[in-house]
Amino acid sequence: MSNLGDIELHGAQQDMLHDWRNLFESMSDQIETFEAGEAPTIAFEVDYEKIASVSRLQSSLTNWPGDCIELGGIVLSEQFRVYNHNSRPILRITNFPANFNHELESLRMRDRSKIITAQVKVKKTREYMGWLKTATYTCSRCQEKVIIKQRLGRNRESPLRCRPCFNEILKHMKNETDIAEFFHFPWSFDFDQELCTYQDIQYLEVEQKSQSKNAQFSMTSLVREEMVGLFHGGDVLNVAGIVRIDHMPKRNFEKDTRRILYLDIIQASKVDL
Ligand SMILES: [Zn+2]
Repeated sequence: MSNLGDIELHGAQQDMLHDWRNLFESMSDQIETFEAGEAPTIAFEVDYEKIASVSRLQSSLTNWPGDCIELGGIVLSEQFRVYNHNSRPILRITNFPANFNHELESLRMRDRSKIITAQVKVKKTREYMGWLKTATYTCSRCQEKVIIKQRLGRNRESPLRCRPCFNEILKHMKNETDIAEFFHFPWSFDFDQELCTYQDIQYLEVEQKSQSKNAQFSMTSLVREEMVGLFHGGDVLNVAGIVRIDHMPKRNFEKDTRRILYLDIIQASKVDL
């Protein structure tokens, strides 16, 4: 395991970082001459074919699309800093092949975490909002900062322990009484609002003509970052997105096990009609 900032990475994630670094280094001319302008965040497009030319990266994108795109974004930001671009790039993968295309109404739970593409019409846009992407806590024993990645629309997660304190306690353990105490160690953390990171998001209702009925099939979708506020009711979009599961929108008890599918849009372009 190694660290990226304060977030621990596992083997498959390290492979992704390595593959993205190689890929972006091979695109250094394009990154160096990229016209980022003054926009604080800007889309940087990478053709799917480029990713498919690195077979391990293609398989990472298929198996763990969320992690793979996020780590690609981190490596891309590093490259942007190398060339002194002030904007923060958002990695957008374009030109997915035709076999990614799906009818929205054909999607089921088995499709969760898959990347699909579709042509959809925006039925309704929701208000912009933000969410807490990473929360930072301070250990009240040693003041170490602990960063916890959060999940969209789930309960906020706190650290289970602080690693430096954990290691120190382990070092001083001598007998069974110590072990028992260790399991009941009163970990205590303060939430550090200022050091948290947030992400802009917007929900869109999108629709597509139903193949089985003479009606529109609609689905909730989500756009993030620079795509927030870009689209309007009536727009026709070619989208690529990750199929994700969420709670029922109006669940009336906390542990309701029913789930719905929604589309976490990773790339979208308007179709001129
Ligand atoms: Zn500590």
